[in-house]
Amino acid sequence: MAVERTLSIIKPDATKRNLTGKINAKFEDAGLRIIAQKRVQLTMEQAGTFYEVHKERPFYGELCEFMVSEPVVLQVLEGEGAILKNREVMGATNPADAAPGTIRADFALSVGENSVHGSDAPETAAAEIAYFFAGLELVG
Ligand code: UDP
Ligand code: MG
Repeated sequence: MAVERTLSIIKPDATKRNLTGKINAKFEDAGLRIIAQKRVQLTMEQAGTFYEVHKERPFYGELCEFMVSEPVVLQVLEGEGAILKNREVMGATNPADAAPGTIRADFALSVGENSVHGSDAPETAAAEIAYFFAGLELVG
């Protein structure tokens, strides 16, 4: 399997509860390397553009409000099959459906406040990484 890179976001519900280290431990235990990381306060414009694909969904406004409510940690994870592997470590979108031991099963509060974002495909991973990081910030 090829070495891939994927965008991860530790969301406001998790940064607020001081869970960054515990979440990072799950990535590292799964063999994902954190090759870039920065804690930022997103603007409404950034959150809205990042989640533009969900613009027509009923939860879009609430999702954007949530994403600017506290700082987030933006990350690039690298590893063999990193995109799918990260989705496995994250668990299902709704924590009620997330497998035991996944980030969302252990930490998420609700389907909206679900602690982490992860890219879902190679094309979205490349676009999402480029949206938040310059090439020189990725140190593999
Ligand atoms: N979301 C929500 N309500 C829903 C579905 C999704 O609030 O019914 C939020 C949730 O924070 C989720 C994000 O919108 O993580 C993006 O949704 P997506 O379906 O892409 O889930 P993900 O890829 O994050 O698992
Ligand atoms: Mg998604």
